[in-house]
Amino acid sequence: MCKKKISELFDYGIKILDERCSDPYLDSKIDVLVLLSEALSVSKEFLFINPNFKPDLVLVEKYLSFLERRVTGEPIAYILNNKEFMSLSFYVSKDCLIPRPETEILTELAIDFCNRNNSSAFLDMCCGSGCISVSVAYYSKKTKIFASDISEKAISVAKINAKKNSVEDRIEFFCGNLFQPLPNDLKFDFIASNPPYISRCDEISSSVANFEPELALYSDDDGLEITEKIIKESVNRLNFNGVLAVEINSSKGSDVKKLFCDNGFSDVSIIKDYNGLDRIVLGACW
Ligand code: GLN
Repeated sequence: MCKKKISELFDYGIKILDERCSDPYLDSKIDVLVLLSEALSVSKEFLFINPNFKPDLVLVEKYLSFLERRVTGEPIAYILNNKEFMSLSFYVSKDCLIPRPETEILTELAIDFCNRNNSSAFLDMCCGSGCISVSVAYYSKKTKIFASDISEKAISVAKINAKKNSVEDRIEFFCGNLFQPLPNDLKFDFIASNPPYISRCDEISSSVANFEPELALYSDDDGLEITEKIIKESVNRLNFNGVLAVEINSSKGSDVKKLFCDNGFSDVSIIKDYNGLDRIVLGACW
């Protein structure tokens, strides 16, 4: 293969993705820009300013392999093993969910609470990549942080992210089913959780269904089983005036609110996401 110009590589990528990638979230121009700049280790501005530059063939091979993966619908975050969340950089692999912008709302609530209440204890239940706990540790320096997940592989990813963001000494990780691995006398002031909440009957996009870990996505009882367990068990794990906040399936706002109320939580409210959909339910434990 002879050397190709950046402009040719750019056009080729768009053509291949438009013709062969069926991901409904495809934005071929943006995707090609991201994959090309990453493969060549240059900025996006460099690509615009130097359309006639001919990169080394090894780097072009890398770009072509990225394109082949994107054609199958694989999300960019898994191809690049990276996702930005709360303005921090997170390593991601297929062992964890890709952090979502909606989860930043939950994380900001937790950070606000922890910064208002000095030296509180915070738990990230079902921590996955660790995006919530690592962000709380990073932005709330006095908080004691705990994180738990059933997947050993996810915990390994979360530990990588704690190190990547220099908070590895601030988070204690536990691996096991929900609260089971945590010492019985350990109580928290704020519990945040983005648990698996998709019902097996829900339709989800193929790029999520085919690439993200099933264990982190689905829950039985129409998606509510794990959320209900977390609500029930949190009652015994929260200090007086402690708060539980969970991310939910947008169709389950009133169901989850009822679960909070039925389990004795006060001031229960639903918070909407950027699309105006019910996304977080929170309540206080008195
Ligand atoms: N807490 C992680 C996130 O918000 C993982 C969630 C999960 O695995 N269900 O992305």
